[in-house]
Amino acid sequence: MSDLVDLLREGLPEAAVVVDPDVTAAYRQDMAGFCESGAPAVLVFPDTVEQVRHVLRSATALRVPVVPQGARTGLSGGANAVDGCILLSLVRMNRILEIDPVNRIAVVEPGVVNAELSRAAGAHGLTYPPDPSSWESCTIGGNIGTASGGLCCVKYGTTSEYVLGLDVVLADGELLRTGRRTAKGVAGYDLTRLLVGSEGTLGVVVGATLALRPTPPPQLALAAEFPSTEAACAAVCAVMEAGYTPSLMELMDTVSVRAVNALAQMGLPDSTAALLLIAFDTLDPVADLAAAGEICTAHGATEVVPAADSAESELLLQARRLSLTAMDRLGTTMVDDVAVPRSALAAMISGVAEIAERFDLTIGVVAHAGDGNTHPVVVFDADDPDETARARESFDAIMALGLDLGGTITGEHGVGLLKRDWLARELGPVGLELQRRVKAAFDPLGLLNPGKVL
Ligand SMILES: Cc1cc2nc3c(=O)[nH]c(=O)nc-3n(C[C@H](O)[C@H](O)[C@H](O)COP(=O)(O)OP(=O)(O)OC[C@H]3O[C@@H](n4cnc5c(N)ncnc54)[C@H](O)[C@@H]3O)c2cc1C
Repeated sequence: MSDLVDLLREGLPEAAVVVDPDVTAAYRQDMAGFCESGAPAVLVFPDTVEQVRHVLRSATALRVPVVPQGARTGLSGGANAVDGCILLSLVRMNRILEIDPVNRIAVVEPGVVNAELSRAAGAHGLTYPPDPSSWESCTIGGNIGTASGGLCCVKYGTTSEYVLGLDVVLADGELLRTGRRTAKGVAGYDLTRLLVGSEGTLGVVVGATLALRPTPPPQLALAAEFPSTEAACAAVCAVMEAGYTPSLMELMDTVSVRAVNALAQMGLPDSTAALLLIAFDTLDPVADLAAAGEICTAHGATEVVPAADSAESELLLQARRLSLTAMDRLGTTMVDDVAVPRSALAAMISGVAEIAERFDLTIGVVAHAGDGNTHPVVVFDADDPDETARARESFDAIMALGLDLGGTITGEHGVGLLKRDWLARELGPVGLELQRRVKAAFDPLGLLNPGKVL
């Protein structure tokens, strides 16, 4: 341990190497609190690429595992410590190095907070679309680590679509540059895309070249109340089938609506079975919303309330963004992240209701409905062993249901520790073996975020 700390201090300022166990313990976990975490040996806060390279060279020399961390808002245990590891926090590398309006790109360090990049791009008439609900705290490095999504994916896609190039420190300290600054480029294998979503298991992202888009017109939203989640899901499919491209299509069930009202008194309709939020940022959002509202009514919506202006629309979005935090107040929660084809959304959500009944648990659901990406939130009492066991079983049953419906065990939160056992089931033996060989090519000693993903 003292060898490790001494070696790290040869290339890092004294204050950037933290061994105080009270401080290192506070960095052990991300927001998936029920996942196990080990005891880190040391926590480091590099602020240059060279310092990160020194950390990785030291780790390789002494064969010490390294766990990269952003803001630790992850929901899969991906940033959790393993015993004896170096926790490598990238939050101090938080500079926006360049915003280039002609080429519509931003070059950033990994610790830049998502919303700060959006605001900086906004000053140039540009936007960085991926917008996880945690956008005021999560980092671009973490977003790249998990290939995160958000509320706008139904129109603008996920982080994967916006990463053009990466600077990555490999396990042995070498610096790899992938990708490009150009609008097009197909030279060689697409290592950029491979690294996005690799959850810190293949390399440490120390720089990213990101695509920006022109700022769209302000979005206008509506809220539609439905007597059942099935009716709301049918409306989602009908809006898409009719050829509309909303900038957001989110679903909240009764449990999540009530939880948000209890947390923030947002005045959402408490008694509704399902609340659908639809927004457009088109040239004529009023007309598009009216058409979507009619489709909702035709599919059984009991009330359709368009927001008066973009400020009121933002309030509705705020309510949706608060929903995971709000459900956290109901008990200990396990947040699932199963995505299914949009056409299977109704079957997925009614299947989750059956699972809740079977295991006698409260399971609230919010969904990026336009993407078919559900977040069933299993609420349980962690002090009750029987209920905890049922919660875990129900969590597994939800993933099995998602796979049966042609979906995936994770739409945007990643595999981390939480879903490792389920990955083999989704990939199959051939895919799993090939992924293991890819991991070994990047990290032959198995030092990068061991025990995560594979
Ligand atoms: C209230 C709430 C709402 C959320 N809403 C959404 C949502 O709408 N959509 C969504 O996709 N997620 C959402 N999340 C999950 C989480 O915010 C995202 O996964 C986010 O991308 C994590 O970013 P982070 O900076 O916190 O990363 P961390 O949690 O610190 O790390 C995430 C993963 O990336 C790796 N990593 C971090 N930095 C680097 C780096 N520089 N190089 C290599 N690997 C790295 C870590 O090892 C880990 O595996 C939500 C979470 C909360 C708490």
